[in-house]
Amino acid sequence: MSAILEVRNLKKHYPIRKGFFAKQVGAVKAVDGITLSVEKGETLAVVGESGCGKSTTGRAILRLIEPTGGEILFDGTDVRSLDTEQLRRFRTDMQMVFQDPYASLDPRWTVQRILEEPLRTHAAAKNRELKSRVEELMQVVGLSPYQAHRFPHEFSGGQRQRIGIARALALNPKFIVCDEPVSALDVSIQAQVLNLMQDLQEQYGLTYMFISHDLSVVKFISDRVAVMYLGRIVELAPTKELFAKPLHPYTQALMSAVPVPNPGLKKSRIVLTGDVPNPETPPSGCAFHPRCPFAMDKCRKDEPVLRPLDSGHQVSCHLY
Ligand code: SF4
Ligand code: MG
Repeated sequence: MSAILEVRNLKKHYPIRKGFFAKQVGAVKAVDGITLSVEKGETLAVVGESGCGKSTTGRAILRLIEPTGGEILFDGTDVRSLDTEQLRRFRTDMQMVFQDPYASLDPRWTVQRILEEPLRTHAAAKNRELKSRVEELMQVVGLSPYQAHRFPHEFSGGQRQRIGIARALALNPKFIVCDEPVSALDVSIQAQVLNLMQDLQEQYGLTYMFISHDLSVVKFISDRVAVMYLGRIVELAPTKELFAKPLHPYTQALMSAVPVPNPGLKKSRIVLTGDVPNPETPPSGCAFHPRCPFAMDKCRKDEPVLRPLDSGHQVSCHLY
């Protein structure tokens, strides 16, 4: 396999300004030095509690928000160097599926118009082509083309997410960032949408970055998992390996809170105490130390770095 996406030291900092002259007094480091690669055709999950920077990472990779620093290489192209016009063309390859399909679909537009929009702006398609492409897209995601004249509110939540997926597919992308695509759906519907996403991945050779806080969903859909805490990756491993042998105390704690059978974890059950620290004033050393049951002196002073162990497993913790 070869990498379709390489991200190096990606940062997104938001300035904190105070006082009459709005002087910058600090920065919220929403994403603070993410390095990862995504292989062609794989699903890399990015997990963590809300506010850990996972959505910001996805958006910064697509340049829906401008990164503060770092490198993004997509299929060999330096994404950060693209001007507006190049970026517009480039967007056909990289798409996003959002968490809340209702908020991301214009309620005043019919499905026909929603799915035509990307084709008109990016592909300058003719009317006849548009109609047949919209029909095709609806069929591909398991909707009836006869419903193309309807509005988003006339569909169920699961169907609306299918429309969101069809829109993302309209321009034949290679890579899709899926930001919590099933977390707004009933559990019974989640499996259908996840199965659809897997079928589409196989059919079109898609690569996914799958952002989620739900470990059972991640276990089902992903090939590898990156665990984020306060803007950084603390552990990255193949999915099977991570669930069988989570190394970082934070990952262990996340997993012990999930009702997924996990015999290896029985003895080391950890309950997370305390809240996620204020990202304006992150703890010194290892940012997880105030909540970590294994914290040592060293953890309060020295920041651990993400280091590769065996079998593609990477962890950022002084215990290893
Ligand atoms: Fe816990 Fe120290 Fe490892 Fe951080 S570096 S996770 S505080 S043991
Ligand atoms: Mg897969």
